[in-house]
Amino acid sequence: MVDIHFLGSGGSIPTEERRHPAILLRHEAFNILWDAGEAVQMRLEPFGINRKMIVCITHRHPDHCIGLTGILLRFSLLGRQKPLEIFGPKELIPWIQMQQSTINLGTTFETTVYGIEEGIIWEKDFATIRSFEVDHRGYALGYEFTLSKPTGKFLPEKAKELGIPKGGKWGQLAAGEPIELEDGTVVNPSDVSLPAEKGIKIVYSGDTRPCDNIREASRGANILIHEAMYAEEHSELAAERGHSTAKQAAQIALECDVGLLILTHYSPRYEKGDVILKEAMTVFQNTILAKDLMKVTLSYDGHVEVIDPEN
Ligand SMILES: [Zn+2]
Ligand SMILES: [Zn+2]
Repeated sequence: MVDIHFLGSGGSIPTEERRHPAILLRHEAFNILWDAGEAVQMRLEPFGINRKMIVCITHRHPDHCIGLTGILLRFSLLGRQKPLEIFGPKELIPWIQMQQSTINLGTTFETTVYGIEEGIIWEKDFATIRSFEVDHRGYALGYEFTLSKPTGKFLPEKAKELGIPKGGKWGQLAAGEPIELEDGTVVNPSDVSLPAEKGIKIVYSGDTRPCDNIREASRGANILIHEAMYAEEHSELAAERGHSTAKQAAQIALECDVGLLILTHYSPRYEKGDVILKEAMTVFQNTILAKDLMKVTLSYDGHVEVIDPEN
C-alpha cells in the first residue's frame, strides 16, 4: 500500500491554497519525495524527519527544486541522522555544494546528490523508481514508481506438507525470503505460495509536452499524476513553454489505459481548476484534480481511495 500526499499542487507562482510542486509517496518502509517546491519543509516534517527517504527532482526550474534548501536546513536543525539521497539533473550537485560553502548549509546527516539520466535510479526491496526524459524546456525527467508483491498468497498446507514448522520460517517465506530446513533443504517462497500478483505503478510526468516517453511509462499505470498547466484555449502557450493542456494529459491517460488520472501544476489563472477538470473529463472520465494536502491511497489490489482535505 502506498499513500500519495500532495504537499504542493500549484503552478509556478504559489498561492495560499496551492503551493509549489511537491508529491510525497509514503510506504511503510520509506518516503519518496517527487519535486521540492518552496516551503515544502513544513509540510514534509509531519511525515518524519528521520525516516528512510529519497528526493527525486524532475528538472531545474526553481518551482520544482528551491525547497531542497529548506529541507536540508530543517532536517539538520531537527537532528536527522539517516543519510539523504537526492536524484535529478547533474547541475543540482554544484548548486547544493555552492550553498554548503556560501550560506553554511551544512547537514547533520550524509547528503548525496546523484546526477541521473534515464533508467532505474533506485531499488529497495520490491520497489523501483525509473526515470525517463520528457519534453520540456531543457533537460527534464519524469518518474515511474513500481511496487511488486514479493510473493502471491501463502499456502499453509504446502508448508506443512514440506515439513516446515509453523512459526518464524512461515513468516520469512511469506515475506519472500528462502529458508533452510534442519536437513539442509532450501525452500523458496515460490514453493509454498501462489505466483506473485501484478504490482502497482504510479507515474509522475513532471513538466512536459505530450511525448512518447510519458506514454510508454504510463501504460497500465494505476495512477498517472500529470501536469496540466493550461486548458486548450491556451494550447499555443503550452506548446511554446513546454507544457501540456488538460485535454492532452487526458488523451495520454486514455491511450495508456491508466486507472486514475490526477492533474496537477495547473496555472493559478484557472483558480480552482474547474475548467481544467471539465476539459480532461470530456476525454477521460476517471480524472481528479490534485489539491494541496489531498491524500490518495493505492492498495496492492489497485483499489484507490481519495481523501479530499476540503470534505
Ligand atoms: Zn518547468
Ligand atoms: Zn513547473
